[in-house]
Parts: sequence; structure tokens; C-alpha cells
Amino acid sequence: MKIAIVGSGLSGLACADHLVAAGHQACLFDKARGPGGRMSTRRADTAVGQVSLDHGAQYFTARDPAFQTVVKQWQESGTAALWAAAGPDAWVGVPAMNAPIKALAARHDVAWSMRIDGLVKQGDSWQLASEEHIIEALFDAVILAIPAEQAASLLEPWEHDFQALAEKTVSAPCWTLMLAYANPVNTSRATLRDDIVIGWAARNSDKPGRTGPDSWVIQASPDWSIEHLEDSPQQIVAALSDRFSELLGITLPDPLIASAHRWRYARSGKTDHSALYNGDLKIGVCGDWLIGPRVECAWQSGTALAKMVLA
Ligand SMILES: Cc1cc2nc3c(=O)[nH]c(=O)nc-3n(C[C@H](O)[C@H](O)[C@H](O)COP(=O)(O)OP(=O)(O)OC[C@H]3O[C@@H](n4cnc5c(N)ncnc54)[C@H](O)[C@@H]3O)c2cc1C
Repeated sequence: MKIAIVGSGLSGLACADHLVAAGHQACLFDKARGPGGRMSTRRADTAVGQVSLDHGAQYFTARDPAFQTVVKQWQESGTAALWAAAGPDAWVGVPAMNAPIKALAARHDVAWSMRIDGLVKQGDSWQLASEEHIIEALFDAVILAIPAEQAASLLEPWEHDFQALAEKTVSAPCWTLMLAYANPVNTSRATLRDDIVIGWAARNSDKPGRTGPDSWVIQASPDWSIEHLEDSPQQIVAALSDRFSELLGITLPDPLIASAHRWRYARSGKTDHSALYNGDLKIGVCGDWLIGPRVECAWQSGTALAKMVLA
């Protein structure tokens, strides 16, 4: 089969890997400019060198033996390493969180900067619509590997049970502050957790393989992010910087970079399914939101969907 996969995050790529290994053709489409999805990395030039900041997933665990095998391969190829500061079984991408995704995407046919706005049925085949034009290629099956909220609207004309499930599986937002300093922040701590305002803060430059200036990623808690969802990035930079300074009990140096990013669909909900597939219509859905809000769940869901398609 020639299969279209909308979304080239870990779930879509894991699914593509299995389908291609079984002899199918997978064509991926992603609205982003490059690889990462919610495991993405921001790069910026500063007066003291380039800095990269993992502004999505901070680290991931691998408890499923099948995912452990994959992560071991990432470790052997140098795209992942353990990061003890976050826990004994905490993994990160190397030299940046998006490295494993970048390596996976390089093995596949991915169309970047391609936002899919609709699905069109053409006899037994599927076509994809992007920015009000229909992409010519015909596909035997289509897979949505995108957050629940984004999957719901694409499913709407075609699969009402899947759409209903996607609609009731709500994600929490996350305001994220990225900071870089010429003079390191005066603390020996590499992480902070579980404050009512700051759910997580990490010295990004402490992760293995990072170069460049002292850098931090600070994530607001879900409740605070919801309360401040429509605040401006400037307001978020000020509020989270103040709280960070308060928690460390120090005055922060002037930052080289202070930038806020709003993830509207950061932490997914979960369902009782690992993936969804309608074999009559040949439409499938995968993503972390089927299993839970973690990197490992995204991989498991993509893998589960490939098995359903192959069955
Ligand atoms: C701030 C934050 C912190 C996190 N922290 C952790 C953590 O510490 N540990 C952990 O395990 N997990 C964490 N996660 C969750 C983890 O990142 C996700 O579970 C995982 O990356 C989801 O992978 P996915 O493939 O399901 O979705 P995504 O990575 O979101 O991939 C979906 C892809 O689809 C694309 N897309 C969406 N809509 C369209 C469309 N209409 N057309 C084309 N392309 C589209 C997007 O650009 C994206 O690349 C965090 C996430 C966030 C945002």
C-alpha cells in the first residue's frame, strides 16, 4: 500500500518505520519546517556562541522492552544518552532532543511545511488537501499522527467514533520560557520541579553533548499555563523569570535570550486504546494521546497502529 501519514513526530515516524519494513510505501506530511514535533529544539545565535534549547519534551523514559531496544540503538548511534540529573532512567536526545527524530525522519519521505487541512475520498483512494488545494497523489490508506485536537477536525467528515474520542481527549497547555546567559546562573542545581507556578525547570546546558552558553528551559505548571494562556509572551517572560529568581533565591544575570513559547497542546490526555484503525475506510490514528502524555507512549502508539494496518 501507499500510505499517507499526517504528522512526522515520533508516533508517525515509528509507524512509518514498521510499515516500510513490511514493504509498504509511507509518505509523511508535516506542517513544521523541520523534525521534532513535541521533541523539538530551538537554536539561536548569541554573542557567545550558538545555543540550542529543548523547548518541548525534557527527557524520556523507556520501560517497554521493545522501546528499550530502540532507545539502545539510539544510544549506540549517538543520538540519545542518559541524563542523571533528571533520574536514573532519564534519556535525552544528543546533541539536542530532536536528534532521534531527525535521524528517523532522514530515513523517510517527509514533506515539511505542509499543513494538511482536509482528507478527500476518491473512490477507494485518499487524497490530502493543503491550503485549499488538493495534493495530486492518491493513497491507499491515511494515518493521522497528530494531537487529538488537531486530529478531530480532519476525522470529522469520515470517522465519527474516532472523532468523538479525539474530541473528548483534551490536552493541557504549557507556557515555556527559554533563557540563555553569558554569565552562568549562580546555582549548582540542574533541575527544579513541582512549584505551583513552575512545574519544571532544567539547566539545558547540563544535558549531555550540549555546547554554548548556560541555558535554561522553564515550564509553567498546567494550571498556571491555563490561567495565563492568553497573556503576551512578554508578560510570560517577566512572570516566569521573577518566579525562577525567587525559587533560586538569587538575582538573575541579564539574559542573552529570554523567549516564551506557548504549547497549546502540550500534555495529552489518554484513552483505553493504543491506536485506532478502520480497515474498511483505511484510516488510522496514532499519537501519544491514545496512551498517555509521554515520548514512549507516542512510539508505542505508532507501533501499535502499524501492527493493526499490517494485520
Ligand atoms: C512542553 C512539553 C514538555 C514535555 N515533556 C515531556 C517529558 O518530559 N517526557 C516525555 O516523555 N514527554 C514529554 N512531553 C510529551 C512528548 O513530547 C510527546 O508525548 C511526544 O513527543 C508526542 O509525539 P507525537 O508523535 O504523538 O506528536 P507530536 O510530536 O506532536 O507530532 C505531531 C506532528 O504533527 C504535525 N502536525 C500537526 N497537525 C498537522 C497538520 N494538520 N498537518 C501536518 N502536520 C501536522 C506537528 O507539526 C508535529 O510535528 C512533553 C511535551 C511538551 C509539549
